[in-house]
Amino acid sequence: MTAPNPTDHNQWYPFQNRPLPSAGDSANPAVIPLFDVAPLPKKARFVVVGAGVHGLSTAWHLAMMLEQSGKGSGSDVVLIDKQGPGAGATGLACGCIRNLYMTGPLHAILRESVAVWESDPVNFGFQQVGYVSVGEANQEEDYIHLHKSQNDQGYPSDLFLGKDAKAFLTAIWPDFKTDNCDVVLHEKPSGYAGTHMAVWGLDQKCRQWGVTRAYGPAVIGYDRTGGKVVNVVTDEGTVAVDEAVIVCAGAWMPDHWAWLGHGDTMDVTYPDGHQEKDTDVWTYWRLLEGEVYLPEGVDFRTADGKDSPVLHVELMNTPVNGDDGAEIKDHVYWYTRYAAERVGAPGLQGGTIPVKMGSKAALEPYGHLNDAYQADNWFADYYCATAGQLFGRFEGIRPYFKDRRNGGIGAFTPDNVPIFDWVGDNVWMNADSNHGFKMIGVGKLTAETLLSGKKREELVPFNLDRFRTGATFGDRNSNCPWV
Ligand SMILES: Cc1cc2nc3c(=O)[nH]c(=O)nc-3n(C[C@H](O)[C@H](O)[C@H](O)COP(=O)(O)OP(=O)(O)OC[C@H]3O[C@@H](n4cnc5c(N)ncnc54)[C@H](O)[C@@H]3O)c2cc1C
Repeated sequence: MTAPNPTDHNQWYPFQNRPLPSAGDSANPAVIPLFDVAPLPKKARFVVVGAGVHGLSTAWHLAMMLEQSGKGSGSDVVLIDKQGPGAGATGLACGCIRNLYMTGPLHAILRESVAVWESDPVNFGFQQVGYVSVGEANQEEDYIHLHKSQNDQGYPSDLFLGKDAKAFLTAIWPDFKTDNCDVVLHEKPSGYAGTHMAVWGLDQKCRQWGVTRAYGPAVIGYDRTGGKVVNVVTDEGTVAVDEAVIVCAGAWMPDHWAWLGHGDTMDVTYPDGHQEKDTDVWTYWRLLEGEVYLPEGVDFRTADGKDSPVLHVELMNTPVNGDDGAEIKDHVYWYTRYAAERVGAPGLQGGTIPVKMGSKAALEPYGHLNDAYQADNWFADYYCATAGQLFGRFEGIRPYFKDRRNGGIGAFTPDNVPIFDWVGDNVWMNADSNHGFKMIGVGKLTAETLLSGKKREELVPFNLDRFRTGATFGDRNSNCPWV
């Protein structure tokens, strides 16, 4: 069976002219064309390392706030990336923007983030379609808890239990098979964004506000005096730092952490008082994601013809069987969103529970280019069988799975929750524990913190000291590292 629209260029995939790796180059390139790239300056007031969502958002907000407050200008901010915008997880994320977290303080981070997505939905490719998550009866208590927390923190969501949950699902999708679907949360401000569009929009904002965008130099270390970084050292020269370095290095964070003089293990204290000695600071997980074309006549629209909410279904006691009746997995853990811009034609993108790897990973090439971290062979069968198990319209969709490379890894913290904090006298770190394409607002909160000298209260729970004091988030009930 052929795909409905496998064209070289089309309206859904705007950046066909993305720079591709040259033969022999082992690095994942930027996902957008690069314009007005600046040479590396000799010094800067603020140096932001990494042009993923956090580095781009931080640099943009710093530049804009400096200019608007009269305290400086965009040229005070240098953004360095060894490849360019979106060369890490940001360029290949699924793009789901949701607030389904048991970790309550993340709800405020998402509230702030959605405000940024809403500030320019067109240039960020933000589709505010909402987010629907579905669970079994044993998740009822968790859903009640997080529904309350979301609403308390200004993130409106609706909760449906029992028969109401089933009725809510079939009102949106009349062919939804609601067996074992006992709880539903509907987050109204959530949605998704095309990652390439978001990266493009963020890079253009940096450009418009005058950020010095140095794409090409690789940071290879930091010259420090005590806890202070005085120079950011790159393979193309050093940049002297006047005020602060903001490290937003995604999956490469463990390297930067080591260059900043930190050890690779720490003792972690949990809220119940117990302590785990010598815990790895960073643990890699590899994600399992893929895409599927929608055949002619099949769509992912709601009963009233709208783009569907992003959908997350987690039924840990419900097996998934293949076409031959054999069990593929003993549970449903499935997320999906409409992803025409990603698939290059009408289609879906989604995934399942990632796989824990350990404290070391081969980082280059990153993402789809890395042979070692491709989604496993069973994934396509599982993703499509689950789709058919949940929706009448998706029965028999397996031949339409988009057969292409798909992989990406992330570095997670000891409690799988971000660290947004000072990690040196003048070094701020945005380590999102691979949660955070959605967290576009962290850069804004970071810029406000840096320029006011006072940490934004939304960031306080994500401090590094929590591992010492026991204010960790390690007691959450989750089937996944996204807690
Ligand atoms: C397959 C996959 C799917 C995901 N899906 C979602 C999702 O649906 N929703 C969601 O919210 N999150 C999702 N995530 C998580 C999300 O993508 C990441 O948490 C987020 O994009 C990380 O952003 P970042 O800015 O920290 O890092 P990155 O996007 O990884 O950016 C880091 C940048 O730093 C640069 N860099 C690193 N080291 C150096 C150096 N030494 N010198 C110069 N530059 C350097 C890299 O080139 C890179 O561009 C997904 C992640 C993966 C892997």
